Amino acid sequence: MQSLEGKVALVTGASSGIGAAVAVALANAGAHVAAGARRTDRLAELAPRVAAGAAGEILPVKLDVADEQSVRDAVATTVEHFGRLDVVVSNAGVMLVGPVQGADTADWTRMVNTNLLGSMYVAHAALPYLLESKGTLVQTSSTAGRSASAGSGAYAATKFGVNAFAEALRQEVTTQGVRVVLIEPGMVDTELASHVTDPTMLAMAEQLYASVRTLRPEDIANAVLYAVTQPGHVAVNELLVRPTDQVA
Ligand code: NDP
Repeated sequence: MQSLEGKVALVTGASSGIGAAVAVALANAGAHVAAGARRTDRLAELAPRVAAGAAGEILPVKLDVADEQSVRDAVATTVEHFGRLDVVVSNAGVMLVGPVQGADTADWTRMVNTNLLGSMYVAHAALPYLLESKGTLVQTSSTAGRSASAGSGAYAATKFGVNAFAEALRQEVTTQGVRVVLIEPGMVDTELASHVTDPTMLAMAEQLYASVRTLRPEDIANAVLYAVTQPGHVAVNELLVRPTDQVA
């Protein structure tokens, strides 16, 4: 296992759910973590969650992944503050599910700009530093990046896009020592579904999440830790983690 002590990480979408758990887990494992999101008040709640005596720390960084300049600034702030960049967890995302017919296309724009373009901006801005450190890019995708279903068309399209981009990037950089890791969670108990704007879909999503023993954000943080602490010659490229009760 590779130690994270002295390593520097940037986590996007760190103000709640999976990203918050990942940021805390990385800091507990000794990493210096820049935690990015738009809600800086929520980012300020992360540092007290890091275990007393842990070697790592958390630096809140205001970040809107849909804004390319904001992404560049967050990467620059991370490197200026901590001196390097070893691990990027590109995790920010929104899930505004609903049927194609009658959809509010503003939801589609927001999902493409955040989930797909946002993660591409993050990879682009961080890549020079990851090439220098022979670091790791972890990309949060979804089971929806492997199979689409009625009502999830636009969300699944962004996650299929994320998977395609990650695989292409992996082929470009793996022989230069940069590892690209796709994490594909099933249902995780977070704020994600609460942002659904279609009332019928919101009720369906809530019912679906209530019907299984969902994963906790920490379960996904454990998967991320597993991937980023492998020895340098081991690339865990894809991790699909579902709740045991989740069928599809
Ligand atoms: P949450 O809603 O709890 O967290 C989403 C995070 O993304 C928040 O920190 C939010 O921060 C951030 N975010 C959203 N838009 C932006 C933006 N424009 N710029 C920066 N940050 C942004 O949900 P999850 O933790 O569940 O979601 C994290 C990832 O996991 C997403 O990519 C999601 O698609 C994926 N996922 C989640 C699953 C689940 O069941 N929960 C299943 C499969 C995948 P803020 O609003 O403060 O900017």
